[in-house]
Amino acid sequence: MITQHGIAVSPGVVIGPALVLGTENFRIPKRLVAEDAIDTEIARFRAATDAVCEEIANNEKLANEQLGQQYGVIFSAHLQMARDPKLIGEIEELIREKCQSPEYAASRVLRRYAKVFQNLGNSYLAERAADIFDLEKRILRHLLGESRGELSQITEPVVVLANNLTPSETASMNPEFVLGFATEVGGHTSHTAILAGALEIPAVVGIGDFLSDVAGGEIIVIDGNHGEVIIDPDEKTLQRLQDSKARSLSVAERLQSLQPLESETKDGVRVQIYGNIEFPEEVEHCTRRGADGIGLYRTEFLYLRKQLEPSEEDHYSAYCRVLEAMGDQPVVIRTLDLGADKVSTGFESVVQGTQNPMLGLRSIRLSLQNIQTFKTQLRAILRSAVNGDVRIMFPLVSSLLEFRQARMILTDVMEDLEHEKIPFKSDIPIGMMVEVPSAALLADEFAREVDFFSIGTNDLIQYTLACDRSDPSVANLYRSGDPSILRLIRMVIEAGDRHDKPVTVCGQMSADPKFVPLLVGLGLRQLSATPYAIPGLKEVVRNITIRQAQKIAEHAETLDLARDIENYLRGELDKLCPDLVL
Ligand code: PEP
Ligand code: MG
Repeated sequence: MITQHGIAVSPGVVIGPALVLGTENFRIPKRLVAEDAIDTEIARFRAATDAVCEEIANNEKLANEQLGQQYGVIFSAHLQMARDPKLIGEIEELIREKCQSPEYAASRVLRRYAKVFQNLGNSYLAERAADIFDLEKRILRHLLGESRGELSQITEPVVVLANNLTPSETASMNPEFVLGFATEVGGHTSHTAILAGALEIPAVVGIGDFLSDVAGGEIIVIDGNHGEVIIDPDEKTLQRLQDSKARSLSVAERLQSLQPLESETKDGVRVQIYGNIEFPEEVEHCTRRGADGIGLYRTEFLYLRKQLEPSEEDHYSAYCRVLEAMGDQPVVIRTLDLGADKVSTGFESVVQGTQNPMLGLRSIRLSLQNIQTFKTQLRAILRSAVNGDVRIMFPLVSSLLEFRQARMILTDVMEDLEHEKIPFKSDIPIGMMVEVPSAALLADEFAREVDFFSIGTNDLIQYTLACDRSDPSVANLYRSGDPSILRLIRMVIEAGDRHDKPVTVCGQMSADPKFVPLLVGLGLRQLSATPYAIPGLKEVVRNITIRQAQKIAEHAETLDLARDIENYLRGELDKLCPDLVL
């Protein structure tokens, strides 16, 4: 049994067989080879290794010619490994004696060697493990060729283990078969993590190197409550996890009974709780939990699930689906937030070659440089808005000029629709996300021009603390409870109050129940969170008075370390709603 620790990003405990995706996310089949097919499979394996050797020999030749022999030797070492009779012999033995598929056998043997190198306690040799992974990748590429497995085509329950999963790959997962997933990289608020929560797939990310411990087929436990991944659990551990699973389920059932109740404090103040969604089908996850509306509709996922750019009608029908399900409750449609880690077909060139995609052409900046795409979306939003209470929100606004440009394009689109005599809603509230420190610092100036604010703490934290939200190596520095974040949130709430403009928090911070007393105490009256979190948030709101919340916020603001603030808030939550402390 091996236990790995990572960042818990989507709650729940699941147990199932491992499906390992290599660094290129190959799906390695653990199929057994029929005895009469063994010779054919060995021949297939040999053909793949021959092709790999030829590839490496070509690279060696090129490197020798163009870079010099000192670079060529890198490839001669790879070639030696690829032709190593002991290595090849071990793989062929597994195929012949154990009837394993060449993909599975090659992967198992090479990973075992990589692990030996990693554990030799010598950093030079540990780096050679990367060469072995490279060899594995090459062999798998030749073996699997075009038949590389797609996540969307998984048809048996599995636990997916990968180095990394892009948001589009995660979006294509079917929760019926992907019981849970764990990745070596990724951070607490990476979009892959957010999607896991949206799809309600238990997940742990940012584990660091662990794929060399698994080959596929082993029993894996993903504990998305505590950030644990257990390979080959023993009986005692399995029992402990089954118990913890049963406990979480009973808390979830109790919280579900809050669904028809108002989200209001003990002293009768309403705190609206909205849901964040990425796909129209998630609306049902929100209504089932008693959400007051949709506070953030991340529309870019319409692009991430499709090969082609969505048409105006694609946008329109997705928005109408959401509006129809929400009746007269508000729906905040955020315009495209593509770029950084959310890259769709057609926009790859925008991020390729960018040194710092998080600081590059993403979000509203991308829309302002691709006006036609932007207008297509705005037309669909305005047209759908006749069917409900729609509000438009621009993401990642960092200057007043940007907000004004976006609003001007919206006015242009309204003129076009009017000219074409197409019905649309003109008096639509226009808000912005506060995700960049400049926007929080200038909240008073923005408040004169916007109809509402929504604080996107996922990005606000990364830009304020200079911590990539997806990078596990700085996950310990990425803290929602940092005093600088509290101060920026307070600034925005106070600016909103001064100008009578509503403020919501829609980042992952608002999905964490321990921050609810703080946010309410800072004056927030609207939260928007991933649907599974809604019942827990409601429970906290219903167990606190405004004065209590204010006292908690005041005390938190006297502390000067994120760690102390978060520990203090955890302690307060334990007094209010002990069941919610994980
Ligand atoms: C945020 O940044 O907090 C946010 C809600 O937007 P996203 O997570 O989609 O970047
Ligand atoms: Mg954001």
